[in-house]
Amino acid sequence: MTPAAPVPPAPGEARRLRIGVLASQGDFAAHASMLRSLGAEPVEVRTPQGLEQLDGLVIPGGESTTITKAIERDGLGPAIRAHAEAGRPILGTCAGMIVCDREHLGLVDATAERNAFGRQIASFEVELEVEGLGPDPVRAVFIRAPRITEHGPGVDVLARVDDHPVAVRQGRMVLCAFHPELTDDSRMHALLMALATAARQDGERVASRESADA
Ligand code: GLN
Repeated sequence: MTPAAPVPPAPGEARRLRIGVLASQGDFAAHASMLRSLGAEPVEVRTPQGLEQLDGLVIPGGESTTITKAIERDGLGPAIRAHAEAGRPILGTCAGMIVCDREHLGLVDATAERNAFGRQIASFEVELEVEGLGPDPVRAVFIRAPRITEHGPGVDVLARVDDHPVAVRQGRMVLCAFHPELTDDSRMHALLMALATAARQDGERVASRESADA
């Protein structure tokens, strides 16, 4: 059975989800407006403190070496790792996919190859079926995109182009090589918000168990 497309909580139904967008470099504003349109509160993240109290995080596309340097310069690595270790979701898109791989932040057990589609076809669009987003394909925009060349057993491949993984998931980490913020299809962001809702519910269960034990 094809799973239904993720449904974010209705605006105003729960305390709004606070979703950070790493704003070191790249197209963070488009992600913020897509999250806002789904009812989340987008938060531009530039400091380790900015990662506190977030329900989820987007690491956007841009230039992976620039983003990686900015993460080091601003001391963001430990805070991003702590966010992931707390079970909170991350959506890494394009350069964000590279930043999350084994050779960079090490959040996903996979290796991403930069500019993997070559210079000739640096940018292209395809209709892509993405597992977990329902039966309708996504219009996927690739811009000097990476792809996954190798991954461990805990990584699920959600979509492929020419048999190469271009969207993967490991637990609550979701990486895609394309730019979901450049279309009006908000299902990748809705998936992040559904994972963020699950993370928040886990947190609330732990808190109520702790107060029952107190
Ligand atoms: N080619 C870029 C890099 O390697 C990624 C491009 C993008 O994010 N659109 O960092």
